[in-house]
Amino acid sequence: MRIGIVGCGGRMGRMVLQTLLATEGVRVSGGAERPGHSAIGTDLGSLVGAAPIGVALSGDAEALFAGSDAVIDFTTPELTAANAQLAARLGVALVCGTTGLAAGQREALAAAAAVVPVVYAANMSVGVNLLIGLTRQVAATLAADYDIEIVEMHHRHKTDAPSGTALALGVAAADGRRVSLDDVAVRSRDGRIGARPEGAIGFATLRGGDVVGEHTVIFAGEGERIELTHKASSRAVFAQGAVRAAQWTAGRAAGFYGMTDVLGLR
Ligand code: NAD
Repeated sequence: MRIGIVGCGGRMGRMVLQTLLATEGVRVSGGAERPGHSAIGTDLGSLVGAAPIGVALSGDAEALFAGSDAVIDFTTPELTAANAQLAARLGVALVCGTTGLAAGQREALAAAAAVVPVVYAANMSVGVNLLIGLTRQVAATLAADYDIEIVEMHHRHKTDAPSGTALALGVAAADGRRVSLDDVAVRSRDGRIGARPEGAIGFATLRGGDVVGEHTVIFAGEGERIELTHKASSRAVFAQGAVRAAQWTAGRAAGFYGMTDVLGLR
């Protein structure tokens, strides 16, 4: 199977490249970066300190899609929407982990999913997808007087907040309570904001250092508190999930899938 990477020079792009190079049965069809990126022309093997593979980092995403069976995208929301159109036009499966998508950018993915398999997940790790399931279950079990708060911490370079994973956990908690997250989310607090509204799902965002990703869902009741936590200590878990998802798309019908489908957790 031929798998390509857009955003191949980024933190996740390089990790996906390393993972693909170590995976049996797949071939790295190419890597694309934004035109003008300093590493364009560099052999992809050399880019991650491995032996050269005879394929250079390119600035041509369209050619990358044209030569791939599946493409993995960890880039920016704007580029993800453009990549979704390329995937649909060229009949290539898309695995997307880019977070911070606006509604229109999500719609671009959904439109592509009418034509090709699209796997989208704000977090591709097995552990977080289990945490999402547990959060839904606990929220459905506990009465609404347990206050739900979601705390996340990431490295200082992360540009969107709350994290896509924190929002996915919020959706799971809201689903468990049979409410819409949009109706109950409190995404930030500052100043004299008054008492906590009943049924709110609160978010708190921490940024600093090199933290790969930490999420805690707190269920705070009278006299007790339940906390569910996941800590990623290596980006490899996300890259392994993305490669597994790309392999999973082989021969799959068009559709909009999540990691729960890929991991068989539904
Ligand atoms: P990064 O900034 O290191 O990498 C993004 C790369 O995309 C950069 O190298 C950038 O040059 C490239 N890019 C930008 N415009 C481009 C263009 N026109 N063509 C080709 N490449 C282009 O960021 P990162 O830490 O790798 O994260 C990328 C995204 O993945 C973020 O949204 C992040 O939140 C998300 N992420 C998701 C998961 C998950 O499991 N779903 C895990 C980690 C990060």
